[in-house]
Amino acid sequence: MPASDAPPERRQVVILGSGPAGLTAALYAARANLAPLVLEGTQPGGQLTITTDVENYPGFPDGVLGPELMEHMRNQAKRFGAEVRFETATAVELAARPFRVESDAGKVVLADSLVIATGAAARLLGLPSEEHLMGYGVSTCATCDGFFFRGKEVVIVGGGDSALEEAMYLTKHATKVTVIHRRDELRGSKIMQERARANERIHWLWNRVVTEVLGSREGGVHGVRIRDTVSGEESEYACQGVFVAIGHTPNTAIFEGQLDMDEKGYIPVAEPSTRTSVEGVFACGDVADPVYRQAITAAGTGCRAAIDAERWLEEQH
Ligand code: NAP
Repeated sequence: MPASDAPPERRQVVILGSGPAGLTAALYAARANLAPLVLEGTQPGGQLTITTDVENYPGFPDGVLGPELMEHMRNQAKRFGAEVRFETATAVELAARPFRVESDAGKVVLADSLVIATGAAARLLGLPSEEHLMGYGVSTCATCDGFFFRGKEVVIVGGGDSALEEAMYLTKHATKVTVIHRRDELRGSKIMQERARANERIHWLWNRVVTEVLGSREGGVHGVRIRDTVSGEESEYACQGVFVAIGHTPNTAIFEGQLDMDEKGYIPVAEPSTRTSVEGVFACGDVADPVYRQAITAAGTGCRAAIDAERWLEEQH
């Protein structure tokens, strides 16, 4: 019988995503003898694989490389029987149980319970130099990387609460923090604006967009090329770090219309559980978290999702 005619495989737990949330859910589900299947997604290991040193994950007093940390998590989950496949879910059907998940490998898997850990992606400016220097002076997370810019000058791109919060955080490390915003009015909340404007270490470049990050992987960043959106004039601005804070997008496109989401696409969960609006579907990590967005908080909710799924499956018998 050709493979395509074979009945789809069925799993008690299918986990979508392989960042700290997905792999922690896999570890816990595996240790509960649920033989979970993880579909890794397009970026195996998630956002941490595009960072370098991670110094704020407990248990690594000397820090750990992001990709290495994720390799540890993957191996730990596999050791207890999780199956991790380099596949991306391309479609799901959540209207009936078991849930149906299609992957880019052309396979279908039926899931008694589903853990959504597809994460969120930091929005980027879309510049080739930004992509090339990500982790080498360009960052999307001040909490993660601010420490590396002690005594240096940095710029932060954006005008929302994230940019303002990150700018204030960065003043603890950097000697000078310049916010580059494409308009002359901030989007961030009034209170954050007041705090940021009162901070003497924060400088402002209004009506400017970054058109290129200047530097190399070997030597790091030494500046940005900026364009004045009013005059069109181009100039260079010296800095050793560039933080892009123009928002995040949760990776929830394939779930649209099938479960509740907020207006930004995040999946609300019934705190303190990880239950979503569809019974048997749980969400954890950044896909359900517009606030904290840390590896350790994602891992924590991944653990909760696996325990929630295990208990829910037990209730079904
Ligand atoms: P946001 O509110 O959507 O702001 C994004 C900012 O980036 C805007 O100023 C926007 O400019 C700018 N931007 C977007 N695309 C750009 C591009 N291609 N080039 C240059 N600039 C670009 O996102 P956020 O700051 O991440 O905040 C998201 C949500 O989380 C908000 O509701 C916020 O209040 C909340 N939040 C709250 C806190 C807090 O209360 N402590 C902290 C962080 C986030 P324009 O203004 O011109 O559109």
